[in-house]
Amino acid sequence: MAKKDYYDILGVRRDADDKQLKKAYRKLARKYHPDLNPNNKEAEQRFKEINEAYEVLSDPTKKKQYDSYGHAAFEAGFQGAEGFRAGAGGPGGPGGFDFTVNRDKGFGSIFEDLFGDVFGARKGYQPAPEPGQDLYYNMELDLKDAYTGTATHINVQKEIPCGHCGGSGEEPGGKKAACPTCKGKGSVESGAAFMRYSSPCPQCRGRGSLSPPCRVCGGGGTAMKPERILVKIPPGVDNGTKVRVAGKGGAGIRGGSPGDLYIITAIRPHSFFERKGDDLYCEVPVTISEAALGAKIEVPTMDGIASMSIPQGTQGGQLFRLKGKGMPHLKGGGGGDQYVKIMVAIPKGISESDKELFRKLSLLYKENPRERLTGGR
Ligand SMILES: [Zn+2]
Ligand SMILES: [Zn+2]
Repeated sequence: MAKKDYYDILGVRRDADDKQLKKAYRKLARKYHPDLNPNNKEAEQRFKEINEAYEVLSDPTKKKQYDSYGHAAFEAGFQGAEGFRAGAGGPGGPGGFDFTVNRDKGFGSIFEDLFGDVFGARKGYQPAPEPGQDLYYNMELDLKDAYTGTATHINVQKEIPCGHCGGSGEEPGGKKAACPTCKGKGSVESGAAFMRYSSPCPQCRGRGSLSPPCRVCGGGGTAMKPERILVKIPPGVDNGTKVRVAGKGGAGIRGGSPGDLYIITAIRPHSFFERKGDDLYCEVPVTISEAALGAKIEVPTMDGIASMSIPQGTQGGQLFRLKGKGMPHLKGGGGGDQYVKIMVAIPKGISESDKELFRKLSLLYKENPRERLTGGR
């Protein structure tokens, strides 16, 4: 099988710079890392190819050789124009790459850099501090509270370090025993022949020894504690708005920073207003004479009763805008508008004398109002 082009393997152009190469390599190496793809031969093969390609293309001398002679530059015995000679063929086979050797020349640091956060690995495998978890809390609000903003206390159950073991999960003063998984070394080796590397032992988390689990928390290292937290909801929140309360999430582990608390708001339906974005819609009834003659009417708004003029000849269903009377913008800088839909209220039970009035009113309609709909028939 012909060897694949190194640039194709990394999916970069031939003129890719160091940064682009490293970026492509990191992305692929993470994807095909054997630890993340256990028992996957194809991933293992890809991982090998990726490392081989990056090993060559990240080294200026080897890159030059490869650009000039292709894979032939690294066949055992190849003598290039500049006297470059490939390594004498290691466990990597015909390609001649021995990654155990390369690691000594700084490859390991790339690895720590790449996978350090996956395994929480550090020099000496001290378990790293971990940030606390983010917490989410659903809060229902009335439209009025969403309009003005509000401050309220909530009770949350928070994960905190266990008081008995201090968060270690180990019974204080318990008798330690060597970890059976790593036999006390604190690290385990994995990978295939072409590349062996060690990572912190998952069972003892790199400590090499195991203590009896804490009798209070059972080894989890955490306890639950109720906490009362003052939450400030800014004006303008809507359904699904996330309000962040910094540092009020779960406690950090081993000195890590605490997580954040997120309040997810939901707004209860309002009896009068319908909200669309930051605009508010409502329906306001007027009398026939108010609609016909024009009038000054009182309309409820979120901050009290406002006075609004409707012109002479206002039609039922006509929409008027009260500028700036909608919901405040969450990000600040003004707010939406209120839209008032005029509904003409018709009296239901009318007396004989009223009927006479309406017969007179009908004189107002000199033309058939449905003329355009029916063609005047
Ligand atoms: Zn405990
Ligand atoms: Zn272990």
